[in-house]
Amino acid sequence: MDSRLAADLGDLPDLLTAARDYAAGILAGLDDRPAAVPPPPAVPAPLPVDGLGAAKALEIFRERWAPGFSGSAGPRYLGFVTGGATPAALVGDWLTGTFDQNASTRQDSSAVDLERETVAWLRFLFGLKDDFSGTFVSGATMSNTVGLAIGREWLGERKGVSVARQGVAALGDIPVLSGAPHSSVYKALSMIGIGRDQLRVVTTQDGREAVDLVALDAVLSQVSGPAIVVANAGTVNTVDFDDLRAIAALKAEHDFWLHVDAAFGGFAALSPEHRHLVDGLDLADSIGIDLHKWLNVPYDAAVQFTRRPDLQVSVFQNSAAYLTEPGPDPDPFHLTPENSRRLRALPAWFALAAYGAAGHREIVERDIALAHRFGDEVARIPGARLLSPVRLNVVCFATDRDVRVVLEAVAASGEGFLTPTVHGGVPALRAAFSNWRTQAGDVDRVLAVLREVLAS
Ligand SMILES: *Cc1c(COP(=O)(O)O)cnc(C)c1O
Repeated sequence: MDSRLAADLGDLPDLLTAARDYAAGILAGLDDRPAAVPPPPAVPAPLPVDGLGAAKALEIFRERWAPGFSGSAGPRYLGFVTGGATPAALVGDWLTGTFDQNASTRQDSSAVDLERETVAWLRFLFGLKDDFSGTFVSGATMSNTVGLAIGREWLGERKGVSVARQGVAALGDIPVLSGAPHSSVYKALSMIGIGRDQLRVVTTQDGREAVDLVALDAVLSQVSGPAIVVANAGTVNTVDFDDLRAIAALKAEHDFWLHVDAAFGGFAALSPEHRHLVDGLDLADSIGIDLHKWLNVPYDAAVQFTRRPDLQVSVFQNSAAYLTEPGPDPDPFHLTPENSRRLRALPAWFALAAYGAAGHREIVERDIALAHRFGDEVARIPGARLLSPVRLNVVCFATDRDVRVVLEAVAASGEGFLTPTVHGGVPALRAAFSNWRTQAGDVDRVLAVLREVLAS
């Protein structure tokens, strides 16, 4: 054994204590860490030929890299849709690395059964019936990709071909319809060979990002043969929701696979006051929901639900002499793009065991309340105006001053971090609330900077 490696093995408890102490310090300072850090110029170092040992590596990391790391796990990072890591989720993440299970098969470990228990808990949390199966993937982009790949296989079933065997060319025309699709849907279509240009964007309702049902019905009438509809349960700009129940009802007249992108909007199900927004979610054929956003587990975790695990196996099966055949109860390597995979269910399992449905409902409801508080105040700032009512946890607004200038000034203050968008042709800012740590005082700190920037 390499001498450094042997020494680290001997020092393992001390090393872990050092890492623990360092992490505890970082977490204790998270509330005051700058929300965003403009990356300092990176000067790449050469690979050490003789290793330095883990203690020295930690020292170098602390000096060279950690200062450039953002407070994205903290309470005033409002860019994109970004969650942090609750204490239990972090414990689960550490133990994921500690046990280092390959959660791809049930031949040697109960890790996959833990994943299944976690999926069942999530199904309950989102109000889905037991006929949904679910698997963990790395993020909502992958949930959307897997869901659309299953939909693609379903199109093949309808047309009497196997896409998994014959390729996507066997399908001919592949209509994919959506009102206000997330960028990841285009990426998914590119990855699964359908192609970005196949996406037909359907008219949305006046001043809304929710699809116009009459228009969707009309486009479905025009397409020949089966189609894929991507419904949106929470758009990133204005958190608008398609009427999922009404879309599903169109199946009486039209033949389509219904995939719902509920990356963060799915968490509306946790709040009795907002649950109606995802009414009909359980009528979908496949659903993608992110966990590293509003469940506040560390990157990378999302869940992919479907009612057709058989088609999922057709796409992803990985048969080999030394592996199990899919059978009626397939191992995960027959279900996801990865074969070997970390037990990314463990942080979610810990979070759900520790805080339950009630704890996570509290996070969701508090974030929604904070978004309203922020939106109400932004509407009162001279030089700022809301571009949409606050429907859930995102505030989308325009400013008289150039958006880039405002964003940079907010980021430079260290007090907050917001990200840009364009909504209805108007350059705008977004503030998204999904962190478990955020409190009213944080909202007020970001508002104070915003007022200052817009007054200058
Ligand atoms: C974030 C998001 C995605 C993509 O999720 P990743 O976790 O970044 O892969 C897809 N759809 C919606 C609506 C999102 O908010």
